Amino acid sequence: MTAFKTLDDLTDLSGKRVLLRVDLNVPVKDGKVTDTTRIERVAPTILELAGKGARVILLAHFGRPKGEVVPSMSLEPIAGIVESVLDHRVHFAPDCIGGEASDAVGKMVDGDVLLLENTRFHPGEEKNDPTFVTALAQNGDIFVNDAFSAAHRAHASTEGLAHHMPAYAGRTMQAELVALEKGLGNPDRPVVAIVGGAKVSTKIDLLKNLVGKVDALVIGGGMANTFIAARGNDVGKSLCEHELAETAKQIEAEAAMAGCEIVLPSDAVVAREFKAGAESETVPVSAIPADAMMLDVGPMSVEAINAWISKADTLVWNGPLGAFEIEPFDAATVSAARHAAQRTREGLLVSVAGGGDTVSALNHAGVLDAFTYVSTAGGAFLEWMEGKPLPGVKVLMN
Ligand code: AMP
Repeated sequence: MTAFKTLDDLTDLSGKRVLLRVDLNVPVKDGKVTDTTRIERVAPTILELAGKGARVILLAHFGRPKGEVVPSMSLEPIAGIVESVLDHRVHFAPDCIGGEASDAVGKMVDGDVLLLENTRFHPGEEKNDPTFVTALAQNGDIFVNDAFSAAHRAHASTEGLAHHMPAYAGRTMQAELVALEKGLGNPDRPVVAIVGGAKVSTKIDLLKNLVGKVDALVIGGGMANTFIAARGNDVGKSLCEHELAETAKQIEAEAAMAGCEIVLPSDAVVAREFKAGAESETVPVSAIPADAMMLDVGPMSVEAINAWISKADTLVWNGPLGAFEIEPFDAATVSAARHAAQRTREGLLVSVAGGGDTVSALNHAGVLDAFTYVSTAGGAFLEWMEGKPLPGVKVLMN
């Protein structure tokens, strides 16, 4: 039983205008869309609604125009890309409210798909301004949100609209919420979290939330250095936030009280240069040379991490274990990712990952499809890991 309504609750939508919030904020380089993953993820919801006879009106933002019309952030060129991904005609209206929007909506027939211009061209979007929400609501009978990645924002098109009409989760939102529930909401135990990445400072809330929820917290990446230094080791030239030593100690103390084991690297791969193929050596974390920096966790540490993955029923992962973009400092991330993928394939592990560089790290390891769920949402996934309520999700709950 889900706590929110899904497309299963919508059967015949003939004549109904569905306002569907989607994430079309695709990466663009030199005027070309470089990755259509986000469009592919929302395609099933669009096609299902159109197939059920709805007039599907797409709402989305693009970039950060800050409440003004910025032509380079128009969604118009994206309409054609959505059309080719869907293999279904997509109309476009040059505004998301007012006469141009209502004229375009008025011309729709059942099964049509219409994309409205960037919601963030109006200041009311980010302010969740009631007048703007009412203007958006005039064009719809039903609201469907399929943009989990924007759910950490209480904006007009992600939160406000749900108060004006019946609200449902789209298929991507549904998959995301089910996966997150399995990951941390109501997981099979033991639960292990792996948190890596560059800095502790960006992940303090996340670490504090996790120690109260998981059985073991593996800390890797640059952020491990801060913990290793706080335990009294010299970390040489490694990336390290020495000013956060007290925070690191506090997180360790909170973990001890909550019965969560903190798993820190015992050995490190160090180098003198931050570049691909740099000469490297493996040393215990208690013996990092003064002129070297730790760029990956060592093989003994990987063995310990993989042993925890083997013990776990559930794994939640954010952030690489090392500087995975440059070889050979990708070794630990690749090994742990492949081990988790193997356990998942064998049906022994539920693996949920996401946020920031995690998607490209898992992609680099070639296991993106082998995990139970990989979230492409950045900020929303991190705020979920921090235990914060997401306004766009909360408003969908029955
Ligand atoms: P984040 O966005 O916080 O998840 O950080 C990801 C970045 O952390 C990646 O670009 C990695 O290269 C970097 N990183 C991971 N481990 C280390 C390390 N030991 N030293 C420096 N950077 C690292």
